[in-house]
Amino acid sequence: MKQETEARDGDTPPAPIAPATRDAVFIGAARYRRASYGGNHPLGIPRVSLTADLIRCYGAFTEGEYLESYKARVAELERFHTREYVAVMRRCEALGKVRDRHRKRHNIGNFENPYFTDFFTIPATAAGGSIQGAEEVLAGRIAFNPAGGMHHAMPDRARGFCFFNDPVLGILRLRQEGWRVLYLDLDAHHGDGVECAFRNDPHVLTVSLHMDTEYAYPFEGGRIEDHGPLRNAVNLPLPEATNDTEYRAAFETVWPQTVERFAPDAVVLQAGTDMLLPDPLGKFSISTQLFVELVERVLEAGPCHVDGTPRLLVLGGGGYHPLMLARCWTGVWAALSGRALPLGLPPRGRALLEAVDWDMDEEDEEYYASLFESRCDPGREGALREDVGRRLDMLRRTHPLFLR
Ligand SMILES: [Zn+2]
Repeated sequence: MKQETEARDGDTPPAPIAPATRDAVFIGAARYRRASYGGNHPLGIPRVSLTADLIRCYGAFTEGEYLESYKARVAELERFHTREYVAVMRRCEALGKVRDRHRKRHNIGNFENPYFTDFFTIPATAAGGSIQGAEEVLAGRIAFNPAGGMHHAMPDRARGFCFFNDPVLGILRLRQEGWRVLYLDLDAHHGDGVECAFRNDPHVLTVSLHMDTEYAYPFEGGRIEDHGPLRNAVNLPLPEATNDTEYRAAFETVWPQTVERFAPDAVVLQAGTDMLLPDPLGKFSISTQLFVELVERVLEAGPCHVDGTPRLLVLGGGGYHPLMLARCWTGVWAALSGRALPLGLPPRGRALLEAVDWDMDEEDEEYYASLFESRCDPGREGALREDVGRRLDMLRRTHPLFLR
């Protein structure tokens, strides 16, 4: 089982503190340092703690910016999940296993959603972090909960590695204050659980750009014509090997229009990194620098508090290449907190990534060196294929939100 890696105190002095220009918080938890999911699972890799350690190597946390996540209370989980499912998750943790009847009924304790130590506590903490993040946004700060973004979970069952649907719980917290919420899902997979949760709430708009479900999980839904009964869902499925040029064109087709027309009070951004080229489960060809550029676009063009701070809750999501993920989310944190961090990795950051137990496959060779040197990848710009152009055109011509 792989363990989350700690930053090593080498001979190099700690990095100077990079000053923040925006009021943002990073929500993590010491318990994420312990491995979960098991070594054979795509999520059995260091993620949140590795990201926080890399950020520390840059000296990019100051006092008060790193918050320890609280564990969601049962009543909070029950705002979306069924009482029975929450009770079963707790019982499994207490028993140290999943009973057969629960395995079938709730889709837990199998390869997809395996049993692991702190089976209830870890997902409940990730969920608590998103509710806490929503509260930070209500209080005037940008919040980033990288353990969140578990967008596939349903009220009474786990799906696609997701036990509790923290994006839904975070959005519900904002809805409690009457805020209108635009949910933007950049994960390589369709944000189906969140779309389904809000299909009857006209004050939430869910927007998802993703791998076409013809070839990718969840293998149904997420088509351009799937608008939902209230027309409050925007879906843009994209073909395999979508490059930076194509994804930027897709994002620019969707983002400025939806944010302007829907006029939300806040944005919840699911920032799964499985769209990045070497991701073992993703089939897109996107660079880290484009990902960070998209986050900057969301910061620029979204709703703000009176002092100009964006009303933005950012969650994690998929991302199964730990080195790509930690570099990318470090860039996301730099963008959110308004820091100009060098693109080059500091020596301690390089040592941190080199110490991760991760088998490079052949696809990694091309950019292997740059993984440990920079937060940028080789460019992924390319031609805009006719297929992509056709999809953008169809969305513009058929979705009621774009026709108004
Ligand atoms: Zn995903």
